[in-house]
This record gives sequence, C-alpha cells and structure tokens, in this order.
Amino acid sequence: MYYLNNYKRRKSKRIYVGNVPIGDNAPISIQSMTSTNTIDIKSTINQILSLKKAGAEIVRISIPSMQEAEAFRIIKKNVNIPLIADIHFDYRIAIKAAEYGADGLRINPGNIGNYHRIKQVVLCAKNYNIPIRIGVNAGSLEKKILKNNKFPTPELLLESAMNNIKYFEKLNFDNFKVSIKASNVILAIKSYELLSKNIDQPIHLGITESGGLLSGSIKSSIGIGLLLYKGIGDTIRVSLAADPIEEVKVAFNILQSLNIRHRGINFIACPTCSRKEFDVINIVKILEKRLQDITIPMNVSIIGCSVNGLGEALTSTIGIVGGKNSSALYQNGNRLKERLNNKEMLDILELKIRNQANIIKNKKKLIIKCKNI
Ligand code: SF4
Repeated sequence: MYYLNNYKRRKSKRIYVGNVPIGDNAPISIQSMTSTNTIDIKSTINQILSLKKAGAEIVRISIPSMQEAEAFRIIKKNVNIPLIADIHFDYRIAIKAAEYGADGLRINPGNIGNYHRIKQVVLCAKNYNIPIRIGVNAGSLEKKILKNNKFPTPELLLESAMNNIKYFEKLNFDNFKVSIKASNVILAIKSYELLSKNIDQPIHLGITESGGLLSGSIKSSIGIGLLLYKGIGDTIRVSLAADPIEEVKVAFNILQSLNIRHRGINFIACPTCSRKEFDVINIVKILEKRLQDITIPMNVSIIGCSVNGLGEALTSTIGIVGGKNSSALYQNGNRLKERLNNKEMLDILELKIRNQANIIKNKKKLIIKCKNI
C-alpha cells in the first residue's frame, strides 16, 4: 500500500492554543470558525458544541465590537474547547477578549494599525500567556505595501507578515503563528512556500474565501493538500461558504487522504456502471449520514461487482463485493460465510460496521489499560 512514509514536516517552534499543541511535529490540528452572530450567545454556543462534536479542536469567533466581547465572556464559560478571538481594526477589543479568557488572538496586520497598537496587543498576550496569529490576507493587504501594484504577490504578502514579525521580535515575543492566505490557490501556495523558508514559527494553513461546499472543498484540498504534502503547515482551517461543520469534515478528509490523521470511516466506493449488482451510490450516501458518529478510523469498501471488489475488500476492515442477488462480505481481509441480500443489505451492513467499530474501540481501551498497569 502507498503511504506518505517519507512525510517530513518542516521544523518549527511549538505554541499552545489552550491545551492544543501547534508546531514541532504536534498532530496537525483542525480549526473552524463560528458563522453565527456572536451576540446570539445560545446559537454560538450550540454551533461551537457541534463543531467540537464533528472533530474541531480549536474554534475561532469573530469579535467586531465590545458588545461581542461581552458575549464572548459568557460563551467562553460555557464551552470547553480552545477559542480564538478574531479581531480587526480595534486593538482594544483584543485586550478585552484576552481578559475574558480567549485562548488565542488573531489579528490582521492590514487593519490593526500602527506599532503602538500592535505593542499593546502583544503585551496583553504576554500577560495572559496566549498566542497570537498574524493573519495576512491578500484581500486586505496594507496599502503602503501594495503601493503601485495592482494585485498582491507572494513577496508582498510575505513583506506584510515579516513587518509584523519584526515588531514581535522587537518586543521579544515568540508565542505566535502565521498565516498568509489568498483565495487564489496558486498565490496562496507560493506565498506559504515563501513564508516557510523565512520563519521558524508554526504555520496556519488555509485558502481564504474559497467558495461554496464543492468548489471551496476542491480549492482547499489542492492548496492545503499540496502544502501538507511538502511538509508545510501545522494547523489548518478550510474556509467554506457553507455550514462550518462541513469545513471540519473536509479538513479531516484532506488529512485522511494524505494519511496524516484519521477519524471515522473512510469509504472506498466505486462510481458504479452497468456491471453493478446493487445500488452502491445510495447505500454509501445513506451510510455516510448514518455513521457520522463513529470516530474510530476504519476503511469500509463498498464495491458494485467483482472487477475491483476483491482487491479493495482484502485491504479494508469491512468490504462488500457485489454479486448476483447477494454480495460477498469481508472482515479484516477474510471472506465470511454469510452473504448479504442485495436488496436488504443496508441495515445489516450498518450493524456490522458499528460492531466492528466497537471491537476496535474496546481493543484500544484494553491496550491503554494494559499500558497503565
Ligand atoms: Fe463497475 Fe464493477 Fe468497476 Fe464498480 S467495480 S465501476 S460496478 S466495473
């Protein structure tokens, strides 16, 4: 089997957002951002809880004014996942959010203002021992850096990041990570490549404003995926004009596709053709929905006929190979005696997958127990 065996991460310093380590070979963490109105405290808390359930490890919240900062104070007390306060324009809001328990601050050099303001935010982060993300964005690059250029370039985006990094260094502050995002995938990739050669801090990856569920997932997969493949990136956020839960799912799929991290079921399914013996597409669609609660990593292959079915079943935890009227069932590469009726396989298959997930879960628990004896 092909794995990313030679996967070598770029070396970086380590920081912590709450209890989540970032950089220095820590697992690549997944972030998302709330899309609710922050002053709608109940909806925001509910969305954070859903994001956590979906696997998000850090959640960012937009705090446009002091009113949202007050809401943030209550939100923070009602969730137990690290929260990053997203601040633009007014550095005083950053200071307030830190006071109210933010686990990290994100500031945009393009609009936070002069050295004095940045200094206040850094002193505050030092005081509360929380990290800052310098979040450069091609859509809001400082005018003085853009100068006569019509469009941002990787060099200009880097210049913006480096100017802020110099401020941080002057203040003897190294508890930060950097992002350098663009909605143009090539611009983002080239900018991140450049950034990775110029800093030792952890890098937050993302393709900003990437679009809706389909186009945004594709752009993010190409951009983030390519950078991760090159060992660049310590934490990721997929930005979609969609339910943020989808961002978390896509992020896990990117990491899973590169064999970097695994969570839940990896469905291996054929696109079907005239040879299919059962309704593969519908079964996969239903099972993907029904089995979202399973977090144990496992491969499940659902293949419509014997052309490619056997090869996939042999390397899957559970495998189905379509046959006439009934289909062959494989478990851990072994063919079972029982066959599944093609018309009634859905519920039985769900049960088999759930049972297998429980077996793996219990085995893991036992191993941990034995290690602790
Ligand atoms: Fe068609 Fe069989 Fe290939 Fe599926 S595995 S696409 S059913 S030939």
